[in-house]
Amino acid sequence: WEGGGAMAAVSAAGPAGLYGLGTGGLVLLGLVPGAPSCPHGPALLFAKTSQGKEEGRRFYACSACRDRKDCNFFQWEDEKVSETRLAAREEYNRNCQPPFTHRQNVERYKNFILLPLSKRRFCQECQQLLLPAEWENHSGHQFLCDISTVQLQLPSQLLYPLENKKTNAQYLFADRSCQFLLDLIINLGFRRVLSVGTPRLHEMIQSKASQEEDFRVRSLLLDIDFRYSQFYTEDEFCHYNMFNHHFFGGEAAHETCRKFLYQDSGERVIMVADPPFGGLVEALASSFKKLMSLWKETEKEDHDNQEMPVFWIFPYFFEARILEFFPSFTMMDYQVDYDNHALYKHGKTGRRQSPVRIFTNLTPSTIVLPAEEGYRFCTICQRYVSSGNQHCEMCNSCTSKDGRQWKHCVLCQKCVKPSWFHCNNCNRCILQNHTCEKADAGCFVCGKTGHKRSTCPSLART
Ligand code: SAH
Ligand code: ZN
Ligand code: ZN
Ligand code: ZN
Ligand code: ZN
Repeated sequence: WEGGGAMAAVSAAGPAGLYGLGTGGLVLLGLVPGAPSCPHGPALLFAKTSQGKEEGRRFYACSACRDRKDCNFFQWEDEKVSETRLAAREEYNRNCQPPFTHRQNVERYKNFILLPLSKRRFCQECQQLLLPAEWENHSGHQFLCDISTVQLQLPSQLLYPLENKKTNAQYLFADRSCQFLLDLIINLGFRRVLSVGTPRLHEMIQSKASQEEDFRVRSLLLDIDFRYSQFYTEDEFCHYNMFNHHFFGGEAAHETCRKFLYQDSGERVIMVADPPFGGLVEALASSFKKLMSLWKETEKEDHDNQEMPVFWIFPYFFEARILEFFPSFTMMDYQVDYDNHALYKHGKTGRRQSPVRIFTNLTPSTIVLPAEEGYRFCTICQRYVSSGNQHCEMCNSCTSKDGRQWKHCVLCQKCVKPSWFHCNNCNRCILQNHTCEKADAGCFVCGKTGHKRSTCPSLART
C-alpha cells in the first residue's frame, strides 16, 4: 500500500462506493477499540479486497483525510510499534493541534470586539483575527481591515471555503437553500439544531438569534474546521470529526453536545448533517448513530421507539447505501444548491441540476417543498416531488431520482433514466453506446459467475 490515502481509493469508486471497486479495492472495517490515533483522532481499520473478498494485511489509516498529503498516518493492524515511536507519535499529534486553543480563541474574540473598527484586522493568509500586538508578525500577509460586527456574525463569508475535495470539501449552501432549510426546520416545530458540518446553517441561525428578539432557535455546530472556534464559544461550536465521532475538546466538549441534545421544556431537536460526499457512508452512519443514541439517552421515557429527527444531506446516488444503515429514512426530491460548487447550482439558473438531496426519518408528507420552484404534492406517494417526477402507474410511485422524467421498462419492471435503453445482451437498461458486460467474467462485486454487478445478491440486502 503506497501513495494516496486509503480513502482516496475508496472515494475514487464514486457513487457505487466500495462495491464499485471490483478488484483491488479497500473495505472499511471501522472504528475498533484500541485503534491508534493520528492528529484527527482514532484511525479507522481498513482491509484490501480482491473480487469482493478481504485479502492481505489489515491496516489503520486516517479517518478524516482521504489524501496522504493531508495526513499520512499508516499502521499495519498487527504491527508492533515501539515505545519510542509511540512517544514520538504522541508528540507529533500534539504539535499538529492548532496554535490557539478554543478557550484562547474565545478570549481573543472578546478582546477583538472591544477594538475600534480601525483596529480590527483579519489575516487572510493565516485565516485569523489579529490583535494589534500581532500585526507585526503578519506584516507580509494580506489582510482585511475594519471587520464589522456583521462580518463577525458571518464567518463563512470571511473565511475562504476549504474546497480541497479529499478532506474538507467545504461546499456552502446557496442562500436560498439555507433559508429553505431553516424555514422548514422552524415550520416543523424544531427549536434546536445540531449542525454537523453545516457552518452556514449554523451561522444563519446564530445571526438571526442575535438580531431578532423573538427568534427562538439555537444551534450547536460540530465541524472539523477549527477556524470557526474564533467566532463561537464552546457552547456554540465543537471541534469534531464526523468520521470517527471524535470530539477534539475531549469529555467537556462531549458533555456540551449531550447537554445541547437534552430537550427541556419541549424544545425539539433536529440534527442536520452535510458531510463531504467522498466520505465513507458507513463511517458517517456509525457516527450519526452515536449522536442519535446520545439524544436517546437524554430523556429515556419520552424517546421510547423514537429516533432523533435527522436531515442527512447527500447525493441521491447514495440512496441505497444510506437506507442500508437507516431503513427509516426517505429521500426527499428537494435539490440542495451550493454557492461555490459550479456543478451543483440550481437548474433554473442555467446550470446542471443539483444531485444533492435531503434524507430524513421524518414523515415525508410533512416535508413541504416550495411550489414556486415547481415541487408538487403526490397524493398517492404522500410526499412532495419535483416537477419532472411523474407518478408511474406500474411502479405505483414517483420514480425519478434526478429530477428528470424517467420511463418505465416492462422488461426490467421498473422505471429507468430517460437516456437508457433496454439491452437484450445485458438483460437490463443501460446507455445505448455501452459495451456489453461479458458473460464469462465474474461479478464485479462478489467475483462469482452467473450474474453481474447490477444483480449481485450481496447487494440485494436492502
Ligand atoms: N453546506 C454546508 C457545508 C457542507 S461542506 C454549509 O453551507 O453549511 C462539508 C462540511 O463538513 C465543511 O464545513 C467541512 O469543514 C466539514 N467537514 C469535513 N470533514 C469533516 C470531518 N471529518 N468531520 C467534521 N466535519 C467535517
Ligand atoms: Zn498572517
Ligand atoms: Zn415505473
Ligand atoms: Zn429495461
Ligand atoms: Zn449490453
